[in-house]
Amino acid sequence: MELIDGKKLSKKIRKELATKVKDSNLKPNLAVILCGDDEASKVYVRIKSKACEEVGIDFEEYHLSNTTTQDELTDLIDKLNEDEKIDGILLQFPLPKGLNYDSAAERISPDKDVDGFNPYNVGRLTIGKPKFIPCTPYGIMKMFEEYKIKLEGKKVVIVGRSNIVGKPMAQCLLLESATVTICHSKTRDLKKELIDADIIIAAVGKRNIIKADMVKDGAIVIDVGTNRDENGKLCGDVDFENVSSKASYITPNPGGVGPMTVAMLMNNVVLACERRMK
Ligand code: NAP
Repeated sequence: MELIDGKKLSKKIRKELATKVKDSNLKPNLAVILCGDDEASKVYVRIKSKACEEVGIDFEEYHLSNTTTQDELTDLIDKLNEDEKIDGILLQFPLPKGLNYDSAAERISPDKDVDGFNPYNVGRLTIGKPKFIPCTPYGIMKMFEEYKIKLEGKKVVIVGRSNIVGKPMAQCLLLESATVTICHSKTRDLKKELIDADIIIAAVGKRNIIKADMVKDGAIVIDVGTNRDENGKLCGDVDFENVSSKASYITPNPGGVGPMTVAMLMNNVVLACERRMK
């Protein structure tokens, strides 16, 4: 079994981006909108801000209260869309009750949509002409590339069908000619779907939902989920202790997909800046 070290790869990507920013004299800028007081969101924003600093991306945080109206949020997005020095706009998820994430995401200009969640960019990925690839699936594709994991013809089973992970992940894999199955909460027999998968990607948010008896010997296992165990320690969706002895490659969690998501966000902001400078 080989560990797919997302932490190490993410560091390498951030370093390469920092060199590019410096050598090409780029002035990338990311605006992050945080609404409300969700503690986990504040932590994620801090992680992104630190990564921006490392790469040389100017970071602007717009912290709105949890009583912000949809109109106020829309006005801010419009203002940032028009601001020429802003390359990327990121709306931190989740939003407080009463605010609609999808309509706000749709308002972000497709040219500044570094998360890739605007329906225009979703459509571009679906037709195989992506402008921005959503950061988590993009990070996983980078892991496959780095570890020289071939995807053509492979049977990949994704567990989870969200717009931010499961669905864009499937599109990325289809573009590399994998055979893709997507499972979800209504899937009748998860084990039956998983047992002959060459690659399993778990994006559910339920600890230990992927158990060793569901995984074939030599499978590659990617663990996206973010959960806490009974001691409050971060863990994923995969029963790592037992699955790792069967897998050929597996991501640790934490230290796998999470850091790659941040690295690919940095990549998308630098990409947006390069396009603007052209
Ligand atoms: P989500 O929107 O809550 O989607 C979860 C998916 O899991 C849904 O499609 C749901 O099915 C499916 N599901 C729930 N119970 C299931 C079951 N028993 N069997 C099979 N499928 C089941 O979550 P998300 O935003 O995609 O995120 C998934 C997890 O990844 C979360 O823990 C999140 O925190 C984590 N995450 C981590 C990163 C990172 O960078 N590390 C990035 C994004 C997300 P239905 O559609 O039928 O409800």
